[in-house]
Amino acid sequence: MKAALVGADGTLLHEARRATGRERGAEAVVETILGFAAELLAYGAEHFGEGAVAAGVAVPGIVDAERGIAVYAANLGWRDLPLRALLGERLGGIPVALGHDVRTGGLAEGRIGAGNGADRFLFVPLGTGIAGAIGIAGTIEAGAHGYAGEIGHIVVRPDGPDCSCGQRGCLETLASASAVSRAWAAACGDPAADAADCAKAVASGDPAAVHVWQNAVDALAAGLVTAITLLDPRTLIIGGGLAEAGETLFTPLRAAVEERVTFQKLPHIVPAALGDTAGCLGAGLLAWDLLSTEVSA
Ligand SMILES: [Zn+2]
Repeated sequence: MKAALVGADGTLLHEARRATGRERGAEAVVETILGFAAELLAYGAEHFGEGAVAAGVAVPGIVDAERGIAVYAANLGWRDLPLRALLGERLGGIPVALGHDVRTGGLAEGRIGAGNGADRFLFVPLGTGIAGAIGIAGTIEAGAHGYAGEIGHIVVRPDGPDCSCGQRGCLETLASASAVSRAWAAACGDPAADAADCAKAVASGDPAAVHVWQNAVDALAAGLVTAITLLDPRTLIIGGGLAEAGETLFTPLRAAVEERVTFQKLPHIVPAALGDTAGCLGAGLLAWDLLSTEVSA
C-alpha cells in the first residue's frame, strides 16, 4: 500500500508505504487501510500544522465510485465493501473519495504527470495485464458500469492465445509485460528470463529477442490504434513495467502506430512520469476535487 499527504496543487508532501498482507484475509486488509489512513491524518496534523481536510483512496477491482463501494476485488477477497463510509468514520468525518486504482493513477499522470494537463489523454499501464484510463477534461471516464478503458481486452488477434476474460487474442495476452516475459522465456530457453531481459537483448541486437519484441509492439500498436480511432486523444501515456524499456519500446511503438493510422491524428506517445506513486497522488487529487465540488455546490 502506498499513501501520501498531497498539497492542493498536487505536491507530494509526505509518502509512506506498508505491506498489504493480503494473506491475512479481507478484514485484516481493510483494518490496515483504515489504520494507515488514520496515522497519516495524525502525521499531517503533527508536521503541517493542520491535518488533512479530505481523503482519497484507490483500490483495484470493480469500484462504484459514486456510491463509495469497493464492489469486488478477486485478489483482496472483498465484495460490496462500503470503504468510503468506513474511512470517513475512522477519519472523524472528513470527506472521502473512493476511486479505481488504474483510473486514479491515470488522473494523476494526466493532470500532474506525463500528460502535463492534456485535455484528452489515454493512460495505458503495461504490467501483469494491460489496463487503461480515459482522461476527458480533467476527469477519468468510468463508463456506465465502471468498465471503461479496459483496452487490455480488445481482441487484436482473433486466433491468438486464450485470455482469462474468456476471449482469445486479447491485447494483454500479447503485449503485457507478463506476455513478453512468457514469449521471451520460451524463445531463449531460460524459464526465468523476463521482459526486462528481453528488452536488454533487443538493445544488444539479438534477432530472436527483436522478433519477440516486435510481435508485442505490433499487437500493442494495433490495440492503441483502435483506441485512438475511438477516442482521438491528444496524449497517449504508456506506463507499467514494459515502459521501463524506454526508447527500446517507444521508438518502434511510435513507428508502428504511425504506420497504421490513416485519417486519425497521431497523439504524443510518452512514457508515464510518476511511477508507482501515481495511484496515491491521484487519490489525493480525488480528495481535493471533492472539496472544490463541495465549495462550488
Ligand atoms: Zn481478455
